Amino acid sequence: MDRSSMSDKTIEMIGVNKWFGPLHVLKDIDLTVARGEHIVLCGPSGSGKSTLIRCINHLEEIQKGAIFVNGTELGPQGNNADHIRRDVGMVFQQFNLFPHLTVLENCMLAQRRVRKTSVAEARDKAMRHLERVHIAEQAAKYPAQLSGGQQQRVAIARALCMDPQVMLFDEPTSALDPEMVKEVLDTMISLADDGITMICVTHEMGFARAVAHRVIFMDRGEIIESAAPEAFFSNPGHERTRAFLGQIL
Ligand code: ADP
Ligand code: MG
Repeated sequence: MDRSSMSDKTIEMIGVNKWFGPLHVLKDIDLTVARGEHIVLCGPSGSGKSTLIRCINHLEEIQKGAIFVNGTELGPQGNNADHIRRDVGMVFQQFNLFPHLTVLENCMLAQRRVRKTSVAEARDKAMRHLERVHIAEQAAKYPAQLSGGQQQRVAIARALCMDPQVMLFDEPTSALDPEMVKEVLDTMISLADDGITMICVTHEMGFARAVAHRVIFMDRGEIIESAAPEAFFSNPGHERTRAFLGQIL
């Protein structure tokens, strides 16, 4: 298949299916993400949102279909997985910072190991991104010394240090105390304003309205609906979407 027309597509999922044993968790997922596009993915718990974005990062393997990142196909046996992970930044609900490393070291590690960046360059870039998320003054601290919101901003800075082509967020504010949600959402809004491609699993519908080009609703492993935020919220086409919105809004 000719992929030369892929340059404007950061991610392309074609007929993706995934099973956990007998459980069919992704059913014929077709999803194309354009460069610079911001997608919000929502849906009930257990609908397959985390699995979908973990497949893009090859944290999960698919059994059928194809996934391309920047025109490179993610191979069935994890071929290209390292190559692709470098281009895909991921931020998790539980931050997943290395507890025994300082904030600065957390942001330098992958640059040094994966990109083979020099110490000076890795430190420079780490400090630049820590400044970008307004947390540079905490660089010498350990994760446990920071609030949840601060830790999540460090996790975002750490991902940005790899110059990802796309950022994946999996419910990045769900584990935070309410007063910390805004600082993380504001950080994500500013990344969106900078034109970073992102797929964000979240139920923060204010964020969706502010930055999403498309809101996608998943249920039971299927994409049920995909629309611009105005249409999605004011006139959802599917009964299951209406029921879901009724619960969370
Ligand atoms: P969501 O993120 O939308 O809540 P998930 O993608 O986490 O949904 O899960 C989709 C379904 O797959 C759920 O039924 C979940 O229990 C199941 N599942 C997720 N991860 C695993 C796993 N590692 N092994 C078996 N089942 C899993
Ligand atoms: Mg999930």
